[in-house]
Amino acid sequence: TLPVQKPIRNYDVGELRRLDLAHHLPAQSDYKLQRELGGSRIITRAEGCTITDAEGKSLLDGMAGLWCVNVGYGRDELARVAYEQMLELPYYNTFFKTATPPPVRLAAKIAEKMQASNPALTHVFFNSSGSEANDTIFRLVRHYWALKGQPKRKIFISRKNAYHGSTVAGASLGGMTFMHEQGDLPIPGVEHVLQPYQFGEGFGEDPDAFATRVANSIEERILGVGAENVAAFIGEPVQGAGGVIIPPDSYWPKVEAICRKYGILLICDEVICGFGRLGHWFGHQHWGIKPDLIAMAKGLSSGYLPISAVGVSSEIVNTLVEHGGDFVHGYTYSGHPTCCAVALANIEIMENEDLIERTRTVTGPYLAKVLKRLENHPLVGEARSIGLIGAVEIVSEPGTNKRFTGKEGTAGPIVRDLCIKNGLMVRGIRDSLVMCPPLIITEAEIDRLVDILHQSLNEAEPVLRAL
Ligand code: PMP
Repeated sequence: TLPVQKPIRNYDVGELRRLDLAHHLPAQSDYKLQRELGGSRIITRAEGCTITDAEGKSLLDGMAGLWCVNVGYGRDELARVAYEQMLELPYYNTFFKTATPPPVRLAAKIAEKMQASNPALTHVFFNSSGSEANDTIFRLVRHYWALKGQPKRKIFISRKNAYHGSTVAGASLGGMTFMHEQGDLPIPGVEHVLQPYQFGEGFGEDPDAFATRVANSIEERILGVGAENVAAFIGEPVQGAGGVIIPPDSYWPKVEAICRKYGILLICDEVICGFGRLGHWFGHQHWGIKPDLIAMAKGLSSGYLPISAVGVSSEIVNTLVEHGGDFVHGYTYSGHPTCCAVALANIEIMENEDLIERTRTVTGPYLAKVLKRLENHPLVGEARSIGLIGAVEIVSEPGTNKRFTGKEGTAGPIVRDLCIKNGLMVRGIRDSLVMCPPLIITEAEIDRLVDILHQSLNEAEPVLRAL
């Protein structure tokens, strides 16, 4: 049996920082800054919605780790399932006509959730990360069109400022120019169109007119490159890393109609929005659209172990079945039994604790209500949320979308650092703050989250005005 007591270890922070500088390259980091700061922030433990660093300082985790710890930290059940699966069968692969029980069961469970709104989504392909899920999609989609006798259909249409991962295909599908600048991306065959960012790029415009304008940029690009050359459109239901960009309500139905009109596959990247974030099992279910493929990761295992999946429609599967021959794609850890067992137990926690329903009807609306109050703050241009994901836009003049002139892009990180000092982990993206707390967050914790945002904005105001 496993110990019931959770270990509380003491760490030598100085030693960890020294080793971090000497040997560790943390992800998505500025290594010059890492030196200047004398090493990284070291988080040592967590429970519920609270993370604790090596110095013993506790923070409310307003980011659920990296948009992923949906069931919160410290779940014995998940540790136990991993322990038992590791004893029974820690690893076996799914190559060459093999499977193990956990990926088979998990695939069936995911299919059940997808099929609640779209019976056509029948199958699941496993990978280890969100980036890998999108790489799988990239290859699967082109292979599908080749099998269909339309090999020219190679182009993916994505949005500017989208995030689809850090691998070559993921970063190419993504629309972040600062990522493209490193490594000569995007690779050929990816086109980027307008994003549905109303506050930044359609301020004051009628939401439906804005949605039409932005969705039409997809159709224009399809016609520009030739519909016969377009394979698929990919989008996050709500863009996460781009700044929690919540599209106007009519956007997704318009996008779906354009895809159908030209026979183009519709891909939803649900890596953040899946598993309850928007108050549904999948984010696209909020708008009632029916994608052909879904990328999912993060909340699938609440980050306890690395796993991702691609949901695939029966039309695509049937095409592969009809033609036969290997789909020559897959990873050592595709369908990793321990990761799959933990993901399955994680989904059961969400079911047993009604976390999706609670997000949709209780905590999501509560966050929206208290966040709205921040719109009275002189630095806040908009405070928006859907389910348990939200953003606060920082402006120099209330009632406008004007940033601090000459200092554009700096306000988010400044307020973020104040939030951390005040006991809240959030993320600063250009001139906004974003949040994505665990789905177990209570109303009292939501109050605390918004209070700390408010206090940090107060402290930031003189700093920002003096810049
Ligand atoms: N897609 C989206 C929408 C994401 O938010 C992320 C990660 N933030 C990814 C893909 C990539 O996932 P990973 O970091 O697991 O490769």
